[in-house]
Amino acid sequence: MSPSDTPPAAVPVTPSDTASKPHDLHGAGRATTLIHHAYQPPGGFAAVQPGVFKASTVFFSDTAALKAREWKDKSGYTYGLHGTPTTFTLEERLASLEGGRQCLLAPSGLSALTLVGQSVLKAGDEVLIPDNVYAPNRDFTRVELAHWGITHRVYDPMDPAGLAAHITERTRLLWLEAPGSVTLEFPDLPALLQVARAHPRLIVALDNTWGAGLAFDPFRLGVPASADTEGVDISVHALTKYPSGGGDVLMGSVVTRDEALHLQLKLTHMRLGLGVGANDAEALLRGLYSLPLRYAAHDRATRHVAHWLAARPEFEGVLHPALPGSPGHEAWTRVATAAGGLVSVVFRGDRHTPERVDAFVDALRVFRIGYSWGGPISLVMPYSLKGMRRFGALAGRDGDTLVRFAIGLEDPADLIADIAQALAVLN
Ligand SMILES: *Cc1c(COP(=O)(O)O)cnc(C)c1O
Repeated sequence: MSPSDTPPAAVPVTPSDTASKPHDLHGAGRATTLIHHAYQPPGGFAAVQPGVFKASTVFFSDTAALKAREWKDKSGYTYGLHGTPTTFTLEERLASLEGGRQCLLAPSGLSALTLVGQSVLKAGDEVLIPDNVYAPNRDFTRVELAHWGITHRVYDPMDPAGLAAHITERTRLLWLEAPGSVTLEFPDLPALLQVARAHPRLIVALDNTWGAGLAFDPFRLGVPASADTEGVDISVHALTKYPSGGGDVLMGSVVTRDEALHLQLKLTHMRLGLGVGANDAEALLRGLYSLPLRYAAHDRATRHVAHWLAARPEFEGVLHPALPGSPGHEAWTRVATAAGGLVSVVFRGDRHTPERVDAFVDALRVFRIGYSWGGPISLVMPYSLKGMRRFGALAGRDGDTLVRFAIGLEDPADLIADIAQALAVLN
């Protein structure tokens, strides 16, 4: 669990506390009275939910307040895109969750990832991405960043010693992901960070969606960088997954511990016009209350399913960081205390053709076919290994198929029974 060294967010103000110019419009017409109604509810409303504040326009009480406006911190309100009590509260709680100090919200996990590159990179810079990076981040890097004269290299995340050879004076951003998407190899994060910290220009960003701020502490990985940071510089989180927990909200966060880096990201965030809806922010605030409990339940059930899968003869490998023998298991034990809700299995093409694996996936009844994860319903997704990896045991495995299970909150026994009946179809 990450220590929460950020104080809990204050309960937001109620509408009567906000800057609204009092009007005395006696004698005004019906429409004007409805629009400028004088009633103000009493302040001090306190309840479990901090409230949904919706706004584009935010009022200033007078021109002096307008001229004194300050949107770069949380000292006041200027415009809906720059924050409301709802989004400020969510940001503060997410910063605490990840052991950070500042947080920005973006409309999806992917937009939070792309914000980082757009903010810290310029033409001529190079970015390093791991072989098993979240694929849309690789595509953004390969296509959009390339259009802007930013190059990239793909490194083997399971070879920290080899990382140094990729770093040049042009390298500006290093992406980490733990474990990697789909194939779930868990890298040695402290070792990768140690290599990176020999290069002060290098900004280290982690896609922390899997860890969710609960499996390990991204800002305390035991590698000193400055007096302030012993971990990554930036932690990006697809809130779409575990924090939402409902499969019904898209959002991302960018958490930092350094004020200057946060401000740089925030200025880009503002220029790009990124913002989130108040109802989605409220759904996230509700989800956060039960996040640790849900994460623990996903973790427990997934280990149970993974051990069952590991004893089956159909798979050539079962990939899950907490499973001894899974790539990066040792590295996982050194930094993490939990293992999330994903487990993947590998089918050898000469024993189970991709068509047979598709039939297995189609035969599942409790698991549903669909992208994403973190919600109550277990999900399954087949992937061809053709061209998927450049490094490691899964490179060059063109005829083989990987199936990723995202374990939901159902009874694990029912999930195992479902996989067992679908394997009977395969065999
Ligand atoms: C889902 C996911 C994202 C992107 O989140 P969206 O909200 O779907 O854009 C980013 N990184 C990882 C590791 C993810 O699993």
